[in-house]
Amino acid sequence: MNTPDIPVLPIGSHVSMSGKEMMLGSVKEALSYGANTFMLYTGAPQNTRRRALSELHIEEAQALMKARGMQPFVVHAPYIINLANTVNQETYRLAVEFLTQELIRTKGMGSQVLILHPGAHVGAGMKAGIDSIAKGLNEVLAASPDVLIALETMSGKGSEIGSRFEELAAIYDRVQKPERLRVCFDTCHVHDAGYDIVHDPEAVLERFHRLIGREQIAVFHINDSKNEKGAAKDRHADIGEGRIGFETLYHFVHHPDFPGIPRILETPWYPDPENPGRMLPPYKEEIQWLLTASRPKTFPHA
Ligand code: FE
Ligand code: FE
Ligand code: ZN
Repeated sequence: MNTPDIPVLPIGSHVSMSGKEMMLGSVKEALSYGANTFMLYTGAPQNTRRRALSELHIEEAQALMKARGMQPFVVHAPYIINLANTVNQETYRLAVEFLTQELIRTKGMGSQVLILHPGAHVGAGMKAGIDSIAKGLNEVLAASPDVLIALETMSGKGSEIGSRFEELAAIYDRVQKPERLRVCFDTCHVHDAGYDIVHDPEAVLERFHRLIGREQIAVFHINDSKNEKGAAKDRHADIGEGRIGFETLYHFVHHPDFPGIPRILETPWYPDPENPGRMLPPYKEEIQWLLTASRPKTFPHA
């Protein structure tokens, strides 16, 4: 008898890639959280030092993913990439060159999606920043493999670009290959940017749809927020511990319009009550909670 295929809900968290095992360790970390997907940085998010693909244990990592029936994973570009910087041309050049390398690494690791913070205009103004991002993306996309770049919705901290959906739409409009672009929808950032996802998530998604199209969302970052709506702060809170709350985050995780789209947690580690000075990841309990709607007894903040 045939049963209709129930699409798998890909859910996981940011994991690290370090030590001897590199990407193999990332997959093991994700599995330890009960996750079926994950997100990694190709190295420290704050710098551009990167190890060669041949040192990352990619084949073993992929074999383990396959054996455990895992879903595709995603890669996040480092924060220091700023395509919007028109003030310092060196920063812009470095961003173009490094982003090109990141797309090659993403493909080499076996992922189709590289998440990118659009950039910050550092005083030159929104228009100059957006033009610069589009120019940079055009350079990068012309010269690199067919990996998608998912522009992340930002909180609007400082001179960040991409906190208004209109700004992301303007980047799409100016890019020669918009088919290579996608969006990473971060719940904390969208809330901090001033959109009321708590009281009317559907109105926010509808607004996004009119400007960009909901089929453009390739990744969700599922984070609670330490700040009130519109704070433009970008401080993530653990699930159910912030101003967004469990109900809204559960709504985004189980939203029927986004089957097969990875939901990635970037919630903060918390201090181990039994070992002062040690930090623990909340992901195992948060994934379980978000999947079952019942709060695990072992949840750190219970
Ligand atoms: Fe991000
Ligand atoms: Fe994020
Ligand atoms: Zn953030």
